[in-house]
Amino acid sequence: MPKIVAIHEGTVPISSSMSNAYINFRDMDCSIVAVVSDVVRDGRPVVGYGFSSNGRYSVGEILRRRVIPRLMAAGPEELLTEDGSNIDPARAWAVMTRNEKPGGHGERSVAVGVVDMALFDLAAKIDEEPLYRWLARRHGLGQPDNDVFVYAAGGYYAPGKGIHELQDEMRHFLDLGYRVVKMKIGGAGLGEDIERIEAVLDVLDGDGSRLAVDANGRFDLDTALAYGRELEPYGLFWYEEPGDPLDFALHATLAEHYSGPLATGENLFSLPDARNLLRYAGMRPDRDVIQVDPVLSYGLVEYLRIQEMLRQQGWSPRRCIPHGGHQFALHIAAALGLGGNESYPGEFQPTGGFADSAVVRDGRIALTESPGIGFEEKSTLYKVFRGLHT
Ligand SMILES: [Mg+2]
Repeated sequence: MPKIVAIHEGTVPISSSMSNAYINFRDMDCSIVAVVSDVVRDGRPVVGYGFSSNGRYSVGEILRRRVIPRLMAAGPEELLTEDGSNIDPARAWAVMTRNEKPGGHGERSVAVGVVDMALFDLAAKIDEEPLYRWLARRHGLGQPDNDVFVYAAGGYYAPGKGIHELQDEMRHFLDLGYRVVKMKIGGAGLGEDIERIEAVLDVLDGDGSRLAVDANGRFDLDTALAYGRELEPYGLFWYEEPGDPLDFALHATLAEHYSGPLATGENLFSLPDARNLLRYAGMRPDRDVIQVDPVLSYGLVEYLRIQEMLRQQGWSPRRCIPHGGHQFALHIAAALGLGGNESYPGEFQPTGGFADSAVVRDGRIALTESPGIGFEEKSTLYKVFRGLHT
């Protein structure tokens, strides 16, 4: 009967000089945790690790004052599977969210997501399976995918970055093996953004279906529609987060006018928010893409509920491509049969990216077979995690 004996928490910088249409990443950081069990293998305890996905700041206060104390105060049986053989992340989730009112999800969902990641890492390690196989088996999902579509997200605004630097960045992504790239829009005027888009299209041999653009929620309705009119002839891979993430009416109106794929959801942090997106935002199941981040939105336990809701509404999991760009989402994408996963080559280190040995081939990345999420195969991140505990 495994038991959690300690949970350690810390903060690491993932700062960068780049900006999107809304924020710069100068002060960005993230929370990390280590959940230490009393299971011993090769003379060392089995430990699960987690971190918060990029784009939201560290959540140490919520972890220290609410989430971690609740887990540590729980009776061991409250955190275990029915047969007592392993930690059950779903039961632990109920403990972590105890005495929290509904709605107003804020950063609480991020804190729960960090520990949720570590609990899934721990549970799969206790069963000595890579997480994607463990998930597929535990949840009866059938054969998992052996590799996952990834696209390279970049094209940020940065001091001194002009058209040539932008093109070089995109060429670098293609050299790394990516086929689809993403760039930011909305941090400049429409005319300048169109110049930037056309410059990137030159690198892609004019193939708009290999370019996604991301406005990071910057536009009002008029601007979203004006960009939509200009973008439509390019036949883009998608047009992402045109307006405020909670302005579903703006999104629905744009969807009536813009015929190409729209993508959104990275700033929706709960099942009720995702349900409202489907109810009110005019999302089209034959082309649009849902980007809910399984870490920022209360973790994988909540993400599985969101997947069930999508299934009931007739959406294929292939229409989900999570925000985040990390190893955890890669396992989730493979196990749940999602459409793919984001990737930010070289950014948001040490948490972002995949195993040191991971190679992108024709826009896809294969999973590794080490137990759990496989952080032990990402040396810089593993070193940071190891610093949390003896
Ligand atoms: Mg985005």
